[in-house]
Amino acid sequence: MADIITTAPDGTLRVPDEPIIPFIPGDGIGVDIWPAARHVLDAAAARHGHRIAWLELLAGQRAYDQTGTWLPDETVAAFRHHLIGIKGPLTTPVGGGFRSLNVALRQILDLYVCLRPVRWFEGVPSPMRYPEKVDMVIFRENTEDVYAGLELEAGTAEAKRLIDYLRDEFGWQVRPDSGVGIKPVSETASKRLVRAALHYAVQRKRRSVTLVHKGNIQKFTEGAFRAWGYELVREEFADVAVSWEDCQGEPGDRILVKDALADVTLQQVITRPDDFDVIATTNLNGDYLSDALAAQIGGIGIAPGANINFVTGHAIFEATHGTAPRYAGLDKVNPGSLLLSGVLMFEHLGWQAAADDIVAALEATIADHIVTYDFARLMEGATEVKCSEMASAIVDRL
Ligand code: NAD
Repeated sequence: MADIITTAPDGTLRVPDEPIIPFIPGDGIGVDIWPAARHVLDAAAARHGHRIAWLELLAGQRAYDQTGTWLPDETVAAFRHHLIGIKGPLTTPVGGGFRSLNVALRQILDLYVCLRPVRWFEGVPSPMRYPEKVDMVIFRENTEDVYAGLELEAGTAEAKRLIDYLRDEFGWQVRPDSGVGIKPVSETASKRLVRAALHYAVQRKRRSVTLVHKGNIQKFTEGAFRAWGYELVREEFADVAVSWEDCQGEPGDRILVKDALADVTLQQVITRPDDFDVIATTNLNGDYLSDALAAQIGGIGIAPGANINFVTGHAIFEATHGTAPRYAGLDKVNPGSLLLSGVLMFEHLGWQAAADDIVAALEATIADHIVTYDFARLMEGATEVKCSEMASAIVDRL
């Protein structure tokens, strides 16, 4: 019988035989990729004795057209109640009170980890010489940094007041015609993010965690993120991990925790991708890094994502690309990003075998050169198929 997912007192998920999982198909190409991804997810689940009771929620353009609001309260309440959900891309309202519906959902549910695994699937066109060396998992802090939205527009009375205050109280000279933003980075948010990355690294037997920051310039925000990360390793993970600073010789079977400047990282993920494994980083660095890494393994059409609060158990899995309105309804685009986000969701639910099956079937489909237009134009001898046909080809190979 269909039932809701709950958390046990120790924080682990209790997943019933037939969990109710809310979904938002998404705007634009959501009409294409959601049915395709769902087709594969349902088929893989069924092969392993699972069933999902899907519950459709309204958000984005469709919600606006039907209800006059972009993110109805019932949708937020349903995600809160059911803990786990999945969504396609949503149109960002222009001047609609929200900076972005995705950012709003992350903040309302305090989904403090943005999880982006980046790995290459054999046969996928890549600009890298050795794409098989790309296998990283990014933990991007999702709630603060310049994304906190603390900005004042140049020329407003508020900006002037703040600029005057900074001059009078701190002696800081800010040009009077400046826009001003505040970048908060807290010990609380930094440590819970690094904690999640370390737990993941321990569970998945990964080799290293790299703290990526810009601490040489922003000492008390980015630099503090690095320092708090290392402090956490000593405080809570000394038996399973060791920091670069404390490591005399080899780390042995402990996870090595190191750090790298964001600019250097953007260079080295290209020149030495196998030096990176799990990455924990602040919000803006994580944003740049996830897109740069997605480009190495075939682009945003195939890069999955999740936003998770590991304490409350809330998680929303989502396509990392936008609504690509030019392609909407053409049954043309790659369903890979949303499908692989569903794979992440299955792993999160503990349905590892079903998740592994989908990955293997996707690999087999690509190995047979059956791909959507975005890959077909970069591959020799490819058979270009529609979005829905790609899903059927994957299901055939489950
Ligand atoms: P976009 O990601 O929608 O599209 C950019 C280009 O990427 C497309 O033209 C297409 O060539 C390619 N592309 C995207 N998804 C693809 C897929 N599945 N398969 C193959 N190719 C794909 O970015 P945009 O055009 O800047 O944004 C369009 C809208 O989406 C805006 O309203 C934006 O705010 C919104 N958006 C939403 C999200 C989200 O919901 N997570 C993320 C980014 C942008």
